[in-house]
Amino acid sequence: MPEESTQEQDPDNGTTAVAATSPTSAVTNVYAKDNSNKEITNEDFDMDEDEPMQTETEAAKKSTAVVFSPELLKMYYARLFPFDLLHSWLAYSPNNNNSQSWLFSRREFSMTIEPSPGEEIYIRYQSFSTSQELTTAILKRRPTKIDLGAIFSQAPKDHKTLQKGQLQPVQRELVFDIDLTDYDDIRHCGCTGAQICNKCWVFMTMAVEVLDGGLKKDFGFDHVSWFYSGRRGIHAWICDETARTLTNEARNAVATYFEVKLASDNNKDVELHLPLHPSLQRAFDILEPWFISDILPASGHGLLASPERWKKDLLDTIPEAGKSIASLLEKKWANDTTTPAEKWEQLKKHVRVLIGQGGGAKTKTAKTMSTKDKLRLEHWPIEVVFRHTYPRLDINVSKTMNHLLKSPFCVHPKTGRVCVPIQPEEIRQFDPFAVPTLGRLMEELDDYEKTAAMEERPKPKHEWQKTSLKGYFEPFQKAFLEPLHKEIRKHDKNQAEQAAAMRGDF
Ligand SMILES: [Zn+2]
Repeated sequence: MPEESTQEQDPDNGTTAVAATSPTSAVTNVYAKDNSNKEITNEDFDMDEDEPMQTETEAAKKSTAVVFSPELLKMYYARLFPFDLLHSWLAYSPNNNNSQSWLFSRREFSMTIEPSPGEEIYIRYQSFSTSQELTTAILKRRPTKIDLGAIFSQAPKDHKTLQKGQLQPVQRELVFDIDLTDYDDIRHCGCTGAQICNKCWVFMTMAVEVLDGGLKKDFGFDHVSWFYSGRRGIHAWICDETARTLTNEARNAVATYFEVKLASDNNKDVELHLPLHPSLQRAFDILEPWFISDILPASGHGLLASPERWKKDLLDTIPEAGKSIASLLEKKWANDTTTPAEKWEQLKKHVRVLIGQGGGAKTKTAKTMSTKDKLRLEHWPIEVVFRHTYPRLDINVSKTMNHLLKSPFCVHPKTGRVCVPIQPEEIRQFDPFAVPTLGRLMEELDDYEKTAAMEERPKPKHEWQKTSLKGYFEPFQKAFLEPLHKEIRKHDKNQAEQAAAMRGDF
């Protein structure tokens, strides 16, 4: 047993770590004697990413290259992990890395370590005064996963000496977690569970486009950072001070704002109102082109690619008042050569005509149909688009300050891929399969050293600049960290000026 487990494992106070064979039981045990007021449950963790491994992509199956190992992870932490980026973000301070920031030193880190294969230990309530302290702890423990919790009223590492209730979360980024597993009922690419492919990755692209726009335009957030989870999902961290200080109720409200409730067989009450709320109209304008290009054809998810699919998943879902359209189009499409996109336009046109919005004289049906039925039909094509494309949030992750979420820049042990930043403007070019694995990163370092020996190149400041991580980390610095720090500097300057004015000290 490595030294850290003997030190951390203390069944009597139970607050730090308990070894177990399954992540779930470990979490339960660790939380059994939790010190804070609220009882923390497994739901506080982003557990989906820890489910047993399922078959990854075909490419991954064929590949025999080692993508992850404890040795590679050790090397990653020692040479490539961007401690300074993580610190200068979480310190919310543009000053140098060794400066003290209470926002950093009161942040809860939790680590999952594997002292021996198959044995997992969760260590909660870790906190670090400086970047150097964090670096030392990570290099020593080499966690297979790092989670970030809230910023507390006191340093979480002191939790054992604090009175009950003294350790309260005071700030936390608003976070969103979107996982392809939640799309299983609309994925028709052959993937289920942890599997992903480029066909289903488009759901993540759509989610970023819809949510990033909504967060910035509807809520005015400026500092939104997106990350690939390393496996089959994405995370958003909203870092504006207003977002970090939201109450749990307000978090819940923001997350609920992005939920769309659609009519189902059991619940015919539709939450959509026409005209659509501007945010939903914007989402629809983003999503319908994706729906046409990536959901309808056989090259995508095939909704309008075969009679079986269009009957079961589309025509059969037309509301009762529009059933005549279903039977008419089923016959018409049985032997015609229109494209899926043309079929979608035909379908929408038939709906418009039936409810008297098709231009020209109103049909008899249109004149006699009840307003409720008309509305139901008018909503239906919008609902179809939303049902097959709208972002599916794991809303529990967003609702409370206390929820732990995997730290950016970690490595997913199942894929070996780094949890890299994604620029929302470039989400369409983002390819999860191009994200480097630990195995590849070590090859890239070797290649760099070999060519660097031959050429006279200036030495980069960070080792990660010698690898493809540069393409992910530098845009994060430029597009996220620099504007964040600029705003903090401005804020600090204003405060200093105000204070000087109060003192009459110009
Ligand atoms: Zn897929």
